[in-house]
Amino acid sequence: MSNTAEVVIIGGGPAGLTAAIALAGAGVETALISKPSRQGDNRTTALLASSVTALDTLGVWQRCRAEAAPLRVIRLIDDTARLLRAPEVHFEADEIGLDAFGYNIENRFLLAALDARARELSSLTFVEDEAEAVAIEDERVTIRLKGRDPIAARLAIGADGRRSLCRQAAGIATDGRNYRQSALTFNLGHRRPHHDVSTEFHTGTGPFTLVPLPGLRSSLVLVVDPGEASRIASLGAGELALEIERRAHSILGKVEPEPGHGVFSLAIETAQRFADRRIALIGEAAHLIPPIGAQGLNLGLRDAAAISELVVAAHRCGGDVGAADLADRYDGSRRMDVGSRTFAVDLLHRSLLSDFLPLQGARGLSLFLIERIGPLRRAIMREGVAPAAAPPRLMRGEAP
Ligand SMILES: Cc1cc2nc3c(=O)[nH]c(=O)nc-3n(C[C@H](O)[C@H](O)[C@H](O)COP(=O)(O)OP(=O)(O)OC[C@H]3O[C@@H](n4cnc5c(N)ncnc54)[C@H](O)[C@@H]3O)c2cc1C
Repeated sequence: MSNTAEVVIIGGGPAGLTAAIALAGAGVETALISKPSRQGDNRTTALLASSVTALDTLGVWQRCRAEAAPLRVIRLIDDTARLLRAPEVHFEADEIGLDAFGYNIENRFLLAALDARARELSSLTFVEDEAEAVAIEDERVTIRLKGRDPIAARLAIGADGRRSLCRQAAGIATDGRNYRQSALTFNLGHRRPHHDVSTEFHTGTGPFTLVPLPGLRSSLVLVVDPGEASRIASLGAGELALEIERRAHSILGKVEPEPGHGVFSLAIETAQRFADRRIALIGEAAHLIPPIGAQGLNLGLRDAAAISELVVAAHRCGGDVGAADLADRYDGSRRMDVGSRTFAVDLLHRSLLSDFLPLQGARGLSLFLIERIGPLRRAIMREGVAPAAAPPRLMRGEAP
């Protein structure tokens, strides 16, 4: 026997929870299948201004804003010893009339706020279980679960991360490749204030990014090759502190790494379709990009907002929320935003790692022009914070 909902979401990460809140908040009967997470996530997320607006509109931001630190300035520093080095580039939020580009928050606080808001919604059913199989039929999609009866719905939203079962079930292939690099994540206490400035050192192995947290704390994402990642991760507390301080050129004074760290292998991957055959993909199920320029979850939240907007409109007209034309419109609405950011992040990353002198020169010249030409710099900042072309309603502060 199957239970039913109008929409079933697989995956209770930040993208899945956001879609669940947007849909159930608009009265769409939604089931959220979420398997209990195995390990803590010590990462933080830099949420750009339009994502903060969306979370505020959904009643989430009010529950976690006290835990977030504003990002008012972003500095890019070429920390390679190369012949053709780029100049230091400053992006300042007040140059484009913003108080801050966004806010950095620990994932545990963001997830707790999303979870608390989701549990208030009567149209949302939480199913704490693992989806084992997804069967797609003409009129519905059925999710088989590990520990209980299956659930059938008109539409399944795959928010099930980089190894998405939903993507596989819909037969959607991906394009991309592994970078053969790892990102190490730490949270730190430090002696000197960060002054709401995020600093990204571009080194020959990848970026070393310090992002403010409230008070005298910051998060760190350090990209290195996997062997170096294992070496750094195995350092004792004192050695680790010295290693980080050295790589940070002591800009935050003495640092004190907090217990725990994360290791993530870096890859870039984009689904060839974002929706097909009663399955829509959001978040890392749809696209994976390296942690440069804080784009990953910000894209994922725009996916959640875009699919919710289309589903709510179809639901209000009594239409089929899993219909093929809705899938096409969702795919079309997300392709440009995801494609352009994936391309830009990949290019920035590859040009940093490349030994090819002309590419290093072109990179340096681009950053020089950005630093020198105000209108260009402001256009990049505006586009970085939110896509100029038709952002979803939630990103403009309107309910879906
Ligand atoms: C080092 C690092 C730093 C980053 N920093 C930023 C940043 O500053 N800003 C930014 O925007 N992005 C950032 N990102 C990207 C961001 O972390 C991801 O985009 C985001 O976590 C993806 O969320 P998600 O909900 O799509 O997937 P996930 O968080 O992976 O959630 C997927 C969920 O689905 C569940 N699941 C999977 N399969 C099943 C199943 N079969 N049944 C039931 N449940 C299932 C999993 O248990 C999990 O809970 C960073 C990424 C990294 C690696």
